[in-house]
Amino acid sequence: MLTWDDYNQEDSVAATAAPEPAVVAAAVAAQEAETAPEPAAAEPAPAEPAPEAMQAAEAVIANMDASAGVEELEMGASRLSVDEKAMINCRADLNQLVPFKYDWAWQKYLDGCANHWMPQEINMTADVATWKSSDGLSEDERRIVMRSLGYFSTADSLVANNLVLGIYRLITNPECRQYLLRQAFEEAIHTHAYQYCIESLGMDEGEIFNMYREVPSVAKKAAWSLSHTHELSDPNFSTGTIEADQQLLRNLIGFYGVTEGIFFYCGFTQILSMGRRNKMTGVAEQFQYILRDESMHLNFGIDVINQIKLENPHLWTEEFKEEVTQMILEGTALEIEYARDTMPRGVLGMNAAMMEEYLHFIANRRLNQLGLSEQFPGAQNPFPWMSEIMDLRKEKNFFETRVIEYQTGGALSWD
Ligand code: FE
Repeated sequence: MLTWDDYNQEDSVAATAAPEPAVVAAAVAAQEAETAPEPAAAEPAPAEPAPEAMQAAEAVIANMDASAGVEELEMGASRLSVDEKAMINCRADLNQLVPFKYDWAWQKYLDGCANHWMPQEINMTADVATWKSSDGLSEDERRIVMRSLGYFSTADSLVANNLVLGIYRLITNPECRQYLLRQAFEEAIHTHAYQYCIESLGMDEGEIFNMYREVPSVAKKAAWSLSHTHELSDPNFSTGTIEADQQLLRNLIGFYGVTEGIFFYCGFTQILSMGRRNKMTGVAEQFQYILRDESMHLNFGIDVINQIKLENPHLWTEEFKEEVTQMILEGTALEIEYARDTMPRGVLGMNAAMMEEYLHFIANRRLNQLGLSEQFPGAQNPFPWMSEIMDLRKEKNFFETRVIEYQTGGALSWD
């Protein structure tokens, strides 16, 4: 069997040892005599497929029954109207993006694309020096970096699985699906960013990638997310009954409301606070761009959930509202536990008690966004700078570490 090396060797022999022209002419003549029975043609004949294969393909096309796909394509059906579109259980043609019904989803797709970034654009040199020096970071600060990369590196993969294996299939309109495709790519970029940090800093990959199974405060969050989004990745799950539609809503709230809406906030706040103190600014900048993407994922998810509620008010019962409130509170409790585990004492100008206050504030916001009553009256935001980072405009570079400004293919000119 030929190996890659054999090919390279053949190439290099051909390139270095050119035979005499007379020898080549004789060889070509001999080959032509063997393979070309017709007199030498001026133009080389175009390559033709094996005649039997072509005949078989032509026979299939000649006998093709266009009506076989009618069920799926609805040939001759009346043109798609906006009123036929729906968030779930939609029977209208999902291949037609327009006419738009859910403009908010299309707008988020455009906004997501305008925020495009890649992990390699961020300079990690200073971080590598800080991480490798013995006095660059305290033990408590090092723990925060390790735990954050440990949780997020696997969490964003779980998130991507839910998106492409479940949510995309179950949300039945093309505007939302267009955003979901963008979101799925952003999740891949985030996983890439964590991997890039882990590799740049020379961390123990086995330790980092297994933290979600080995460190209790990380493992509990991952387990909660998995058990509350179970149906999303079950290929046999489908909507269409009240129970199943409520189950989808429950999963979407577990996914967007808790996993993306609560579980990311302690780690993000800690790493961004580190960047604000001029430590690990490369990692912090990666997290800053991820947080901006994530806040849009969250807002999209909230819009999806509320639109499903609007179109299916019978799903949003008093009992169900209580259950959803409980889910938000469970997520908050788990994130507070994570805060205590990662901050056994004050660090980076914050402590577990301040984070608890912040998480109460976040939980109130999630409940509000879902149309539910706040559970922590009067909770304040001790980290107002977090909101500024979430709304970061593309051209603003918070930590001044970015190597280049990413160009998202500006307007094409045909002149
Ligand atoms: Fe996300």
